[in-house]
Amino acid sequence: MRWYMDSTNSRSGGKGTMRIIADHGVCIGAGQCVRTDPSLFDQDENGLVKILHANLGEGKLNSAERASYVCPAQALKLAYE
Ligand code: SF4
Repeated sequence: MRWYMDSTNSRSGGKGTMRIIADHGVCIGAGQCVRTDPSLFDQDENGLVKILHANLGEGKLNSAERASYVCPAQALKLAYE
């Protein structure tokens, strides 16, 4: 398992900073995350997910939650830091 990238959000209800984390070790390059929000996700030359924003605003948090839900490889996770 290789977690490589995160994005943050301050809307965490005092639990800390919300982050989205992508695992290149399980990403299969299906691109569902990019279709969910191409302004937040992209794919590299190997088709693996790239997270484009360092900070998750309100809209990006919703997109991140949706992408995490639809990812067929469960390669995206939301976590508080
Ligand atoms: S939807 Fe999941 S498996 Fe597909 S590119 Fe995005 S993170 Fe990778």
